[in-house]
Amino acid sequence: MRKKIVAGNWKMNLGYEEGISLFSEILNMVNDEARGDQQVIVCSPFIHLHHIAKQSANSAVVSVGAQNISQHDAGAYTGEVSAKQVKSTGADYVILGHSERRAYFAEDEKLLEIKVDQALKNRLKPIFCIGETKEEREAGDFWDVLSKQLKETVFHLSEEEFKQVVLAYEPVWAIGTGLTATPEQAQEVHAFIRNEIANNFDQETADATTILYGGSCNPKNAPDLFAQADIDGGLIGGASLKSRDFVDIIKVLN
Ligand code: PEP
Repeated sequence: MRKKIVAGNWKMNLGYEEGISLFSEILNMVNDEARGDQQVIVCSPFIHLHHIAKQSANSAVVSVGAQNISQHDAGAYTGEVSAKQVKSTGADYVILGHSERRAYFAEDEKLLEIKVDQALKNRLKPIFCIGETKEEREAGDFWDVLSKQLKETVFHLSEEEFKQVVLAYEPVWAIGTGLTATPEQAQEVHAFIRNEIANNFDQETADATTILYGGSCNPKNAPDLFAQADIDGGLIGGASLKSRDFVDIIKVLN
C-alpha cells in the first residue's frame, strides 16, 4: 500500500527560535497522536533544517524537508544552497515545482527537471508540485497543462527513481486563497495523475505513488478530501504554522 503523508510547508515564515519551538510542539503532539505507519514531513526554511532534523532523528513518523535546492552541485553561486548541503543537515525531502517558485522565481520545467535530478542524486526525495492556474482551469485545457508539467519534469526518471518522488496536486487558485478544490474536483485530477503515471511507467508504479492535495487545506475540509480514493494526504501551507491545526489534519489520516 502506498504511504499516507501530511507535509507542512512553512514557506518564508518563522524566526529561528519560533521555528524550533513550533517544531517541538508538533513533534510532541505527533508522537502522542499519530500512528507509526503515517509519515509527517515538515518543510522549513533552511535556517531551521539542521536543528529540527536532529530533533526528529529518532522519530519513526516525522521527517524534515527543505523548500528549494540549487540546480548546481557546488561553487560560486552566492546565496544558493545545494542538494548535498541540504542532505548534510539531516533533511530527507525537498519541495520542488511549487507554484510560488514557478511564478516568482521563473522556475520552468527545464530547470525543475535538473533540480529533480539533483535531489535524487543526493538522496533527497522530491515532493513535486503540479497545478493549474484559475485561467487554465476556466479555459478547460488544464489537463494538458498538468500532463506537460509531469512529462517534462519527472517522467524521464527510471521507475526506481520515480518511486522516491511524492507528487502534490496544488491548484494554483487554491493556494493561500481560502478557496479549496471540492473533494470531487481534487479526486478527478488525482485519478488523472495516477493514470498518467500508469501510462508512462506501469500500473504498479502508479498504485504505489503517494499523491497529496494542497491548497487551503485545513482541519475542516481535510476529512472529505482525504476520504477520496486517490488522495493520499496533504501538503499544508498556512495551517502548518499552527501546531493544533497541523496535528488535527494529520489525525485525519487515521
Ligand atoms: C502550499 O503553499 O503548498 C499550500 C498548500 O498553501 P496553503 O495551504 O496556505 O494554501
